[in-house]
Amino acid sequence: MPSNNSPKTPKTFRLDALGISAKKLDKQATFVTKQLVENGFQAYLVGGCVRDLLLGLQPKDFDVATDAKPEQISKIFRNCRLIGRRFRLAHIHFGRHIIEVATFRGPSEKLKGKYRVIKDGRLLRDNVYGTLEEDAWRRDFTVNALYLDTIKHTVIDYVDGIKDHQNRTIHLMGDPVTRYKEDPVRLLRAVRFLVKLDFKLSPETSAPIRELAPLLNDIPAARLYDEVLKLFLNKKASSVFSALREYDLFAALFPQTQHCIDNSSDNIAVELIEHAMLNTEKRLASNQHIAPYFLVSTLLWEPVRQLTKKLRPSFNSDTQAIHAAANEVIAQQINRIALPKRLTAPMREVWALQPRFHKRIGVRCIRFMDHPRFRAAYDFMLLRSKHGEISPNIADWWTKIQTLTPAEQKAMTQPKKEQKKGRHQANKSDNKIVSN
Ligand code: ATP
Ligand code: MG
Repeated sequence: MPSNNSPKTPKTFRLDALGISAKKLDKQATFVTKQLVENGFQAYLVGGCVRDLLLGLQPKDFDVATDAKPEQISKIFRNCRLIGRRFRLAHIHFGRHIIEVATFRGPSEKLKGKYRVIKDGRLLRDNVYGTLEEDAWRRDFTVNALYLDTIKHTVIDYVDGIKDHQNRTIHLMGDPVTRYKEDPVRLLRAVRFLVKLDFKLSPETSAPIRELAPLLNDIPAARLYDEVLKLFLNKKASSVFSALREYDLFAALFPQTQHCIDNSSDNIAVELIEHAMLNTEKRLASNQHIAPYFLVSTLLWEPVRQLTKKLRPSFNSDTQAIHAAANEVIAQQINRIALPKRLTAPMREVWALQPRFHKRIGVRCIRFMDHPRFRAAYDFMLLRSKHGEISPNIADWWTKIQTLTPAEQKAMTQPKKEQKKGRHQANKSDNKIVSN
C-alpha cells in the first residue's frame, strides 16, 4: 500500500500493447461506461474481466467502477437497481444480462461507524467512497486491481498489477494478515485464482493461509455456499480440491469429511471426490449440465457412510440408517455452509437409493430404473464401484440391464428356482453398503 496520501501517477498501458482487442469488450459494459463518462463521471471496466482479458480468456462478467454514487448512477440508467448493504452496488439490467457498477471505495477513517463497520478485524460494511487510486488499493490482489478505459483503450495500473500478471503471480495488497482478517473469503479467493489462472501465490500471500484458515468459521454460511459453488463448479475442480487441502482450507469448509480423511487408513474418500471432480471437468468441457447437489453429495458421502455404519444396528434397514446419518451430517454441515433444501433433498435421495442397487431380483429393479433420481443414483453407484466400495459385478449388471428390451430385463430379474439358494447367498453378501 502507498505509505503516504499523495496521489501517485499510475502506469498506463495501451490495450493493443497488452494484446487485448477492443472487440472483446462487452458491448453493454462499454455502453455503461460511456454513459457515465458523458454524464461527467469517471468509469472503467475493472477486476476479473480485465484480468481474464489479459490472459485471452472470455470473462464471465464485466464489472464497472465509477466515481458516481449509487443514487447518481440510478438517475442515469432507467434499467438500474440498487442492491446490497455490506457493499451498496448498482445493477444495470439488459434483459438477463447484468452489469454491476460499484462506486470507488476509499480508506477514510473519519467515516468509520455508519459507513464502515469493522468487528474483530473483519470488514462487515464498507460504503466509504474514495478516489480511483484508493479504490485500487482496497481490492484484493494486484491482478484484480486493473482499470480498463473503454474510451482511451488503455489499462490504468496503480499497483503493479501488470507486472504481477506478467510474472503470473497472485499478490494480496497490503499487510496479508490484516487483509485476510478483514475478509477471510480472500483465503479462498487466493486459492481459486491460483488454480484458475495457473499462477503462483507470492510468498507473503501464501505464508499466512494455513494458520488463518480457521477464520473461515466466522463467515456467514450463505456467503460460503456461493464461494463453494465457485470453487467446485469449474473446469479445474479437481485441482481446486487438492489446493484447498494443501492449504488446510478444505478442513474449514467440510470438517466432517476432513475428519474422515484424517482417520482413514486408505485414500478411498479422497479418490472418490477427485473422480467426481474430474467427471465435472469433463462434463463442463463438453457443455453438459452439472448438478451441484451431485458434487456436494460426493463431498459428504464419506461422513454419511461412516455414520451409517455406526448407526446401522439401531435401524431395520440400510436405507433407514442412511437417512438418519444424512440428517446428522447435513445438520452439522449447514452450520458451516448454507446448503439449500433444493440441494440437500436430492443429495439424501441419491444416498438413500444406494442399497437398492444390491437387489437384483424382481419387478422392483425394473421399476427402480424409472425413478426420477435413478440416473444420478446410478452415476453415484458407479463412482463407488470404481473405488472398491461396491462390487464391479453389481455395477456391470446395472449398466447392462439398461441396454436391454423390457422382455430381456424381465428375464434378467426373474428368480430362478435352481439359483435361489445361490442368490440368497449373493444378496446377503451384497448387502454391504456400510460394511466396507
Ligand atoms: P471471477 O468473477 O472470475 O470469479 P472476480 O475477480 O471478477 O473473479 P468478483 O467476485 O466478481 O471476482 O469481484 C470483482 C472484483 O471485486 C475483484 O476482481 C476484486 O477487484 C474485487 N473483490 C472481490 N472480492 C473482494 C474481496 N473479498 N476483497 C477485496 N476485493 C474484492
Ligand atoms: Mg467477476
